[in-house]
Amino acid sequence: MGINTQAYKAIRDEIAATNTTLVAVSKTKPAADIEALYHLGQRDFGENYVQELVDKQGTLPADIHWHFIGHLQSNKVKYIAPFVHLIHGVDSFKLLTEINKQALKNNRVIDCLLQIHIAKEETKFGFNEAELATAMADLPAAGLNNIVIKGFMGMASFTSDTAVITAEFTYLNNLYQHYQLAPNTDNYKPSILSMGMSSDYALAIAHGSNMIRVGSLLFGERNYTK
Ligand SMILES: *Cc1c(COP(=O)(O)O)cnc(C)c1O
Repeated sequence: MGINTQAYKAIRDEIAATNTTLVAVSKTKPAADIEALYHLGQRDFGENYVQELVDKQGTLPADIHWHFIGHLQSNKVKYIAPFVHLIHGVDSFKLLTEINKQALKNNRVIDCLLQIHIAKEETKFGFNEAELATAMADLPAAGLNNIVIKGFMGMASFTSDTAVITAEFTYLNNLYQHYQLAPNTDNYKPSILSMGMSSDYALAIAHGSNMIRVGSLLFGERNYTK
């Protein structure tokens, strides 16, 4: 328990000259640790589990921007729709449609990122290139007026081979660049490329990321995963 203040300040200094947003990934960590980072000025926090996010949001300062970065099930969208700032892991058109529906119910517009499958592991989620092309083609006529797609998110393979990670980040950045101008529709405004975690955030920034999701470097190793 306890946050790594030194690492936090080092990352802030490192990204100060870039226009990179740091999302502090606080999953499984206590509210006290989030508060400690909040008092150092951090406002963007990322969570992976709906119930945990709802519990924390209810007790922590109202000006926190909560990012949902985990795998989101359609039937749970309603719990985070009233307050979520950005949903990173949108991996199907069905989920996008449900987010739109719940956003409408809450009289909100919810910002989303499409998760792209870039890793070797089959277990990771996300659109492949063909599915992405279909989703982009379907978007303009779908009438999803209560979501805005702000860009893409990806997770590199779990490996220490930087050549593999670099290739995956480059691939995602190229896709992101490819879809800068189209589809030309009100709910597609690409400005965010979310990639990079504790072990590879510097590499990610070097390859076009402008939003990094850093957990263990700030909060320490997680003892368990849910
Ligand atoms: C847990 C998680 C992170 C943070 O991982 P660290 O290696 O602890 O920095 C980033 N992104 C996603 C999607 C995660 O699930």
